[in-house]
Amino acid sequence: MTSVSNHLPTAELQALDAAHHMHPFTTNDELAAKGARVITSGKGVFLRDSEGNEILDAMAGLWCVNMGYGRDELVQAATRQMAELPYYNTFFNTTHTPAIALAAEIAKLAPEGLNHVFFAGSGSEANDTNLRMVRTYWAEKGHPEKSHIISRKNGYHGSSMGSGSMGGMSYMHAQGGMPIPGIHHIGQPDWWAEGGDMSPEEFGLMRAKELETKINELGAENVAAFIAEPVQGAGGVIIPPSTYWPEIQRICEAHNVLIIADEVICGFGRTGNWFGSTTMGIKPHIMTIAKGLSSGYVPIGGSIVCDEIAEVINAVEFNHGYTYSGHPVCAAVALENLRLLQDENVMDHVNNVAAPALRSALEKLAEHPLVGGMNVAGMMASLPLSPDKDKRAKFAMDEGTAGFMCRERCFANNLVMRHVGDRMIISPPLVITPEEIDIFHTRATLALDETYKQLKDNGML
Ligand code: PMP
Repeated sequence: MTSVSNHLPTAELQALDAAHHMHPFTTNDELAAKGARVITSGKGVFLRDSEGNEILDAMAGLWCVNMGYGRDELVQAATRQMAELPYYNTFFNTTHTPAIALAAEIAKLAPEGLNHVFFAGSGSEANDTNLRMVRTYWAEKGHPEKSHIISRKNGYHGSSMGSGSMGGMSYMHAQGGMPIPGIHHIGQPDWWAEGGDMSPEEFGLMRAKELETKINELGAENVAAFIAEPVQGAGGVIIPPSTYWPEIQRICEAHNVLIIADEVICGFGRTGNWFGSTTMGIKPHIMTIAKGLSSGYVPIGGSIVCDEIAEVINAVEFNHGYTYSGHPVCAAVALENLRLLQDENVMDHVNNVAAPALRSALEKLAEHPLVGGMNVAGMMASLPLSPDKDKRAKFAMDEGTAGFMCRERCFANNLVMRHVGDRMIISPPLVITPEEIDIFHTRATLALDETYKQLKDNGML
């Protein structure tokens, strides 16, 4: 039996990691050459690594550790459930109390008319469920040809064949035969990068109208659903102009196209409401959930389904499901996480304390000569780096070069900010305090100063 503990020297852990562990979305040979950072523990908004560094995690892991690290209540919920019933499935006419309670609680929190939950193990799985469910819905209604899905370039819906195909990441589509047939991508509402001289409002409307053009091109009788994140996360925290979602809603209603709101990042408080759909004024038929549902402590995802679709799907055998759909331990932890969010008034903390403090820290960072703007929705934000902020200009070198340099300077200053291209991404635990946001601001300023100097020294600015 291989014995690996946090007490081993970092270099030894890195060598073993490089020898056997294939990392997601990584050039593993490059990583092996420098060695992965070994994270050993977490408390609140801070991570500790094998070298003893205390790192402020302004990404909440991968946008998920909303309650922060080290919450004993979540550990206890898992322990209790493991002792009582560690696993049972929900396939063969059986159920269990964690799945019953969690589905009921989610239905209580979800917007009106969304009262049914199909569980999955992740956001990707849940979006694969959605793809099959909307097609099955229309087929059962006598419209099997109403099967095409429209989504957006640079949207992210997961990494499996179905969800990755619905996502609009060209670098993912370049590998492994994606997108599968029947998926179509329209432009994204990214005014900062693509809006040119248009006002954000004009641009938002123009991008929404691309949906109508695409529906007309395919024929509304062939289009099952439109899927989108209320606020794009992995694409760079792209907040649509105010004109965008109302027009999308109008178009979908006019053409009888279902709306799937991918709430994997936006859900459970990230934008200051329980769901990003509420923040953005969207009335979806299905919402994808994962990540913040369990604060990332255990893997769980799901689809919150409206009454109308559930009525049709529940009338037939839907030949779909996962071994871990509604896993009792994951469901028990998610339920406890939802209790904490409510009992500790986390939404009030976000709206009255954390989000205003984060916004003012970001406003100060946006004055930095390297920062070309600011996108913020509650507790998710991005700072696009730019050589000329007035023109919203891009750098002359490959996209992502400056962003990567900045991410490395963040790490060196004990701060996790992710980069998407040349945008720096911020999505801290929702429970972050104003004092911790001050630490974020100090470290981010240092990282930006160092990146600025590095770019200048290398003749890149
Ligand atoms: N949808 C969105 C909006 C996401 O951000 C993600 C993950 N970043 C997913 C789906 C996929 O979730 P998972 O990685 O749990 O499969």
